[in-house]
Amino acid sequence: EAKRMGKSRYVIFDDSMRKRVMREMMLENDLRKAIEHKQLKLFYQPIVSLESGAVCSVEALIRWNHPRHGIISPGEFIPIAEDTQQIIELGEWVLREGCRQYADWAERLEYQTPSMISINLSRKQFACPLLVHTVQRTLEEFQVAPKHIQLEVTEDAFASDIKSAIQAMKDLKAIGVKLAIDDFGIGRSSFASLNQFPVDTLKIDRSLIAEVKRTKGMAAMINSLVVLSENLGIMLIPEGIEEASQVTALQKLGCHFGQGYYFGRPMPAEKLEAYLLKQPNACFNSVPQMA
Ligand code: C2E
Ligand code: MG
Ligand code: MG
Ligand code: MG
Repeated sequence: EAKRMGKSRYVIFDDSMRKRVMREMMLENDLRKAIEHKQLKLFYQPIVSLESGAVCSVEALIRWNHPRHGIISPGEFIPIAEDTQQIIELGEWVLREGCRQYADWAERLEYQTPSMISINLSRKQFACPLLVHTVQRTLEEFQVAPKHIQLEVTEDAFASDIKSAIQAMKDLKAIGVKLAIDDFGIGRSSFASLNQFPVDTLKIDRSLIAEVKRTKGMAAMINSLVVLSENLGIMLIPEGIEEASQVTALQKLGCHFGQGYYFGRPMPAEKLEAYLLKQPNACFNSVPQMA
């Protein structure tokens, strides 16, 4: 009996496994052509001032419009690209497209342009010795001043080799770009290690934000992150804000900025422009400075 059940379980597992592996192989294969065939697109999500709702920066989030399977989320294809080294080419495309778009906004929208664009880096990109050179070359190509670019990395990018990670961060800081730790609070790096990283911004993972209203402990933790980040001179951005009551709670805890569906979903560039033009004059301090 046990043996039979074991066997049938094995069959179910095997079937869904096979489907998953087939889909992964299909995606891996099709991804090779995705850049060339212009199937990739960047969406942009506003990062706002909690006080005024003004857009301070935008995060670029990649989308893949697959000819047969429709929109595929980065959560599904970025890990595949990581496994196959395609992430380097893909990452360069994201960097170029983000800079191209930012330069275009700066020219057309002037002072309505967000003061920064945030670009996600994958673990392998971050570990690539050529990264600094690529970033610098891309900034020059599109004449974007480095202070308008923020690079986001998650904690897993420096979990295995803290020393070289810190060096990589210093190298990036040296060319003038900003750095953010993404999804903070769910990874393995300790509270104390924050002090070692030359970062400008800390983004609190949305799973923590979802807990803020439910547990006193979480509110206390967010509040201590507020104090810590203020003392270290780091910008704090809670992610995944979906409700007005979360905005109120986070403001009470001392947060000044935020990102989430409540303020706006990731959207195509044209839609973001319309969103920006609707904003009151905002936290954009000045016309972006081009290199
Ligand atoms: P992330 O960098 O932490 O980006 C935030 C994710 O949370 C985005 O998912 C965004 O759509 C989603 N999000 C924003 N606000 C809310 C909210 O209020 N509620 C909920 N439930 N979700 C919200 P997305 O676009 O699917 O991206 C997932 C992850 O894929 C990103 O997490 C990032 O790690 C990675 N990714 C996206 N674009 C790129 C890219 O260009 N390069 C690399 N290397 N990774 C990328
Ligand atoms: Mg991010
Ligand atoms: Mg995040
Ligand atoms: Mg994430």
